[in-house]
Amino acid sequence: MEKVYDIVIVGAGPAGLAAGLYAGRSKLATLIVEKEQEGGQIGQTSEIDNYPGSIEGESGPSLVKRFADQAWRFGAEKVSDTVVDMELEGDIKKIVGESGTYLGKTVILAGGAVPQKINCPGEEEFTGKGVSYCATCDAAFFEGFEVFVVGGGDAAVEEAMHLTKFARKVTIIHRRDELRAVKAIQEKAFKIDNLEFMWNSVVKELSGDGLLSRMVVEDTKTGEQREVLADEDDGLFGVFVFIGFKPNTAILDGKLPLENGYVRTDDDMKTSIPGVFAAGDIRVKSLRQVVTAAADGAIAATQAGKYIEEHNM
Ligand code: NAP
Repeated sequence: MEKVYDIVIVGAGPAGLAAGLYAGRSKLATLIVEKEQEGGQIGQTSEIDNYPGSIEGESGPSLVKRFADQAWRFGAEKVSDTVVDMELEGDIKKIVGESGTYLGKTVILAGGAVPQKINCPGEEEFTGKGVSYCATCDAAFFEGFEVFVVGGGDAAVEEAMHLTKFARKVTIIHRRDELRAVKAIQEKAFKIDNLEFMWNSVVKELSGDGLLSRMVVEDTKTGEQREVLADEDDGLFGVFVFIGFKPNTAILDGKLPLENGYVRTDDDMKTSIPGVFAAGDIRVKSLRQVVTAAADGAIAATQAGKYIEEHNM
């Protein structure tokens, strides 16, 4: 018979790994299913300054490696698989992956969110050929070139600052004339010489001959469109997109009540299905940060343990 885990955690970002740590420490048989590398979004973040206790200048991948090592040390198991379906009702929950099916007395949904796309012509075609959603991964490719960053939140401004260490010039393209990023980040950004701003602007089209070298930008106030071309000597430029995230909840649609795509939970991370919990960026909440994801994971694992005890499972 297939093994029935106490907890199957879907997603190995900060929420899933913190849940794994707490579950492992409580001696619960725990499996984390993750389709990619551990870490979720912070696996692609160049610097984490606001996780309490993080080392100064620490990168996302470095922080998350310590999260993961700690979870494995306390006995959480990991399988690499893409979840394609879930059967969440009933006493034994079924998580169906491309390569296997995983059974759990409880489930913690910690699948996080994926970068939001601009959704303009050329974006998909030029992804990996100039368009990127990860400065940590792709900054080095643009050493000495010109780069544009789309967005005005914390992620856009922080990643733009990181990119200034590689690119000749970085321009933030923001749809308003004021950044959303917190003031402390803004103050740092305004002091950087090779960081410029294109206000009240949105990208309407991306194109080029093999590599990205042309874009059309529209003024949000006047509707006027203009063309931005790569410097002739360069022949290309980079466009990094940081305009928020979309929750990974497509397969949950119809199974759980969603609010704008996010899973609704109570303060104990309980969803509307008994034995099913959600933690981190996937759920409806006011602050999506590593620290709140980790806290959610700890609460979810503790509550899952209580559920198993109360149901004599
Ligand atoms: P965000 O805070 O939601 O900001 C998204 C930005 O993209 C906003 O400036 C928004 O413009 C713009 N935007 C949204 N849709 C757009 C579109 N279709 N076209 C053009 N621009 C668009 O997202 P985020 O920066 O990714 O941050 C997500 C969460 O992670 C936040 O809670 C943030 O605080 C957190 N985070 C924190 C840190 C940190 O503290 N170190 C670092 C990264 C992320 P408007 O301003 O006009 O809405």
